[in-house]
Amino acid sequence: MTNILALDEITMADLPHVGGKNASLGEMISRLSGAGLRVPGGFATTAAAYRSFLSHDGLAGRIEALLTPLDVSDVEDLARVGRTIRSWIEDQPLPADLESDIRRAFDDMTGAEPDLADATWAVRSSATAEDLPNASFAGQQETYLHIAGVDNVLAAVRKVFASLYNDRAIAYRVHQGFSHGDVALSAAVQRMVRSDVGASGVMFTIDTETGFDGAILITSAYGLGETVVQGQVNPDEFAVYKAAVREGRPGILRRSAGEKAIAMRFAAGHEVGASTMITTVPPAQRRVLSITDDEVMELARAALVIEDHYGRPMDIEWAKDGVDGLLYVLQARPETVASRLQGHSHTRYALREKGRVLVRGRAIGQRIGGGAVRIVRSPSEMAKVRTGDVLVADITDPDWEPVMKRAAAIVTNRGGRTCHAAIIARELGIPAVVGTGTATRDLADGDDVTIVCSEGESGLVYEGLLPFVKEEIAIERMPELPVRLMLNVGTPDQAFGFAVLPHNGVGLARLEFIVGNQIGIHPRALLEYDSLPEQLRAEIDVRIAAYPSPREFFIRRVAEGVATIAAAFAPDPVIVRTSDFKSNEYAHLLGGDRYEPQEENPMLGWRGAARYLTPRFGECFAMECEALRYVRDEMGLTNLKIMVPFVRTVAEGAAVSAELAAHGLERGRNGLEVMMMCEIPSNALLADQFLDHFDGFSIGSNDMTQLVLGIDRDSELVADEFDERDPAVLRVLSMAIEACNRRGKYVGICGQGPSDHPDLADWLVDRGIQSISLSPDTIVGTWLRLAARSAAHAGPQAITAPAPVVG
Ligand code: PEP
Ligand code: MG
Repeated sequence: MTNILALDEITMADLPHVGGKNASLGEMISRLSGAGLRVPGGFATTAAAYRSFLSHDGLAGRIEALLTPLDVSDVEDLARVGRTIRSWIEDQPLPADLESDIRRAFDDMTGAEPDLADATWAVRSSATAEDLPNASFAGQQETYLHIAGVDNVLAAVRKVFASLYNDRAIAYRVHQGFSHGDVALSAAVQRMVRSDVGASGVMFTIDTETGFDGAILITSAYGLGETVVQGQVNPDEFAVYKAAVREGRPGILRRSAGEKAIAMRFAAGHEVGASTMITTVPPAQRRVLSITDDEVMELARAALVIEDHYGRPMDIEWAKDGVDGLLYVLQARPETVASRLQGHSHTRYALREKGRVLVRGRAIGQRIGGGAVRIVRSPSEMAKVRTGDVLVADITDPDWEPVMKRAAAIVTNRGGRTCHAAIIARELGIPAVVGTGTATRDLADGDDVTIVCSEGESGLVYEGLLPFVKEEIAIERMPELPVRLMLNVGTPDQAFGFAVLPHNGVGLARLEFIVGNQIGIHPRALLEYDSLPEQLRAEIDVRIAAYPSPREFFIRRVAEGVATIAAAFAPDPVIVRTSDFKSNEYAHLLGGDRYEPQEENPMLGWRGAARYLTPRFGECFAMECEALRYVRDEMGLTNLKIMVPFVRTVAEGAAVSAELAAHGLERGRNGLEVMMMCEIPSNALLADQFLDHFDGFSIGSNDMTQLVLGIDRDSELVADEFDERDPAVLRVLSMAIEACNRRGKYVGICGQGPSDHPDLADWLVDRGIQSISLSPDTIVGTWLRLAARSAAHAGPQAITAPAPVVG
């Protein structure tokens, strides 16, 4: 019988002997060190060692006798029995052979490496029935950290053994139908990674919200990982594009600085299970990111090595040792929730009506749900919550699970996307809004609310029970179409979610939305940062702290937003349009009033291409170009195409095209295509001449209708007259489509018209439009309708026959 196995001789095949967690540790050390994975070494006790320990002095029999009559729903009895069993285990000496084996393994390990003389140790538990697919056993047993010396290690091993009889572990086994005697415990003694003075976090090789599997999601905060896993901190978050990692290119799609207000560190010496304490993180340290870009990329590479090895999406714990400065993987297990979202069908929720937002936080999942608010301050108040209520709490932990199962939705003050409430909500398939900061204060017990997670990263709690729709979509069976249907994607935070819809790429992503969403500061204010008044500079400092300079902040943030959308839809084309802010809109950005003129008619004023060519804005445009070039040339997202808005004259078109080329965005270089928005009547009237400078048109029916009919698109007074199907508008659209098709150039449409008017979509298809870009809520319906129509028209003349136009 083997009592001890070195971690580097363990593989997944040892699962019955060392449990899922330790087998996975061993598998990574023994199989993946060669691929560059760094996992702290050590050894593990076996299930056989545990059983021999229990067989001494009749311990197993005594435990069995106590557990057999136990009713786990009697909380007091459960606590009493659990306590008794644990004290028996902790008081019983280890069998002599096991103790001497542990001492020998410990000496071998520390003797072999002089560096380890000062090391401390983590003693981790691994239950042999742990981590079965679909069972969240993880985290039920204890881990003891920062232990010095073999005597303390031995005591910790006994404590780990005892933790198999935690109250919640006993109850869980009963609920899941495992018999207590079938589960054994293996203790791993592993070198302590000093993340208490470093950083730690979690990574997923799949987006846990949407099931998008093209990126790795990483969270990170200062100190021990406990705070991230349990959701006590809002961590930094990163997303990394897998394809870029594989190609050795920069691949960071998102850097978002979390609040990181606290860090867990060690309070006292190295006794058995050094006690921990929560420290506050100084404000300056909170604002910067807890790990560097290089570290993010190294973690992403490690995650890919692990995912490739296991051949499935994984959930990984990592830590940065603040003493040696290196990154380590601590644990990896299959991801069980988001991976089930893939393929099959997709359920979409959409709010029918909006109301007053009471609190906001981070959306978990994409669902909507509602019910009466129940503010619960501790699990002892659980009885308050009835099935269908909205559970509102400061934070949750595994003790809360019974009450969470009854909730229709969960709202917490604290926590990020990997916090306990988030994980459980996803598992339960209910919406959750976490990290609101103030939910327990701002929501009132008993009030009806609607929890909305279908609107991107922000999760919203609305007053009252609002109507919503739930739509089930089978994605894999979308029929062939005579036209490409693309998506208009507003902000990067929705990209991963939309990417799982059926699509042929993105027909319009507006850079001004990305600037509004990712930057919020006027680009000139960033360029002229040094000469700004102190107070404005201070406000900017807070927002840009995680980046090396104001200019770099703009370029990197725009690149992140653009790259997120491009990566989400790759390899399909993604058309990103350079900025088209109007002066009234730019003025709202921080510092914007200093640089934007007051215009009577901003719609007809200093907007679109005209701006790029003026000295006042040229440098801002140069920053946009640098971000776009970076995404294409450095990150390798060559599915990104560029589009220029609001080009009034042919001369302006030629000049903008030359300006783009001067900034490294020359048509044809690295496969770049540059489109022009066809949205001013001049664009259609002189289509041929404009097309000399561009690879195609995307029709902006919003501006085109405004300008052909002379209707201010923003005025509600004339809104009734606004109709893209007016014959005059259709006439110019026909001219544009015909010119592009004759020249063999691209022609699509990205205005709102075909999303709102199915008959306009039909007309465009019949006129030979190559692609229609739709708002995401209409793409599935339009797809199915156009497919049915083209089947009915079967035959080559279907597309060329003009259809009657309504309107
Ligand atoms: C349009 O004008 O139709 C268009 C898509 O651009 P925007 O709505 O951004 O002006
Ligand atoms: Mg427009």
